[in-house]
Amino acid sequence: MTKNTDTCEMPDHAGPHEGLAVVQTNGEQTVLCERCRDGLQNTTIVRHLDDQRTGVVVVGLPGAGKSTAGEILVDELDGLELETGDIVREGACDHFDVASTEALSSDELGDYSTMRRDVDGGDYVAHDVIERLEATDAFPDQPAVVIGMRDTEALVALELWFHTLEVVWVHAPFDERLDRLQGRGRQDESDFGQEDLIRRDGRESMWGTPEWAFWADAKVWNGHSPEMLEQRVRAVASRFPFSSRPAFNARTESSERMACMEGHDEA
Ligand SMILES: [Zn+2]
Repeated sequence: MTKNTDTCEMPDHAGPHEGLAVVQTNGEQTVLCERCRDGLQNTTIVRHLDDQRTGVVVVGLPGAGKSTAGEILVDELDGLELETGDIVREGACDHFDVASTEALSSDELGDYSTMRRDVDGGDYVAHDVIERLEATDAFPDQPAVVIGMRDTEALVALELWFHTLEVVWVHAPFDERLDRLQGRGRQDESDFGQEDLIRRDGRESMWGTPEWAFWADAKVWNGHSPEMLEQRVRAVASRFPFSSRPAFNARTESSERMACMEGHDEA
């Protein structure tokens, strides 16, 4: 059973709703804050609600390999995939009343983004993501994997909403990114050249995309092989507090402790 609520259910609750947890008393489950739980008899905590909303955002410049890294994260974390490019394209389809994303021109897509940015602010994609997650039953039981986020303002919106949010920056050299974009074969990218990528990088700089590299919790270099990327992304994911993989951290800590003790013996 999943209980999602932001408020304590104690009838005479008077404090802030802090430290919420699903508790079981005489076979019945209720959500109580830490203060109201204090002093209650025969009550066991079923689940803490504090750090429920967990997620990771994959960022990087065009062609860096965000989608590939994101799919590895989805697999590693048993996460829910949200590709912001798709979300924006779907929004544009609704807006222009176009049947499929294929029929959408890049001009229409650009106009739509500009309109949304003007009307809803630079964090509009973050709000679309949040709206989708709120409507997803599997969330927050499964972490969200948000692929591609451009505006720095979106980071603030997401960090406020998620209890735990990890930001992964995927980096690849310019030439590799160009190769990838040319090979991707989306119709508007078939004659995609160096100038186009420079222009696109410039536009993303304006929105603040490269600043994410600074804010990132982890950085992954995607310049070698797909196997190497996979290995690195999985290693990064295993360090997240919501990783389903048993404690990379614990392993590291215990081996460090061992090394420490060995050092002590020698001294
Ligand atoms: Zn309470």
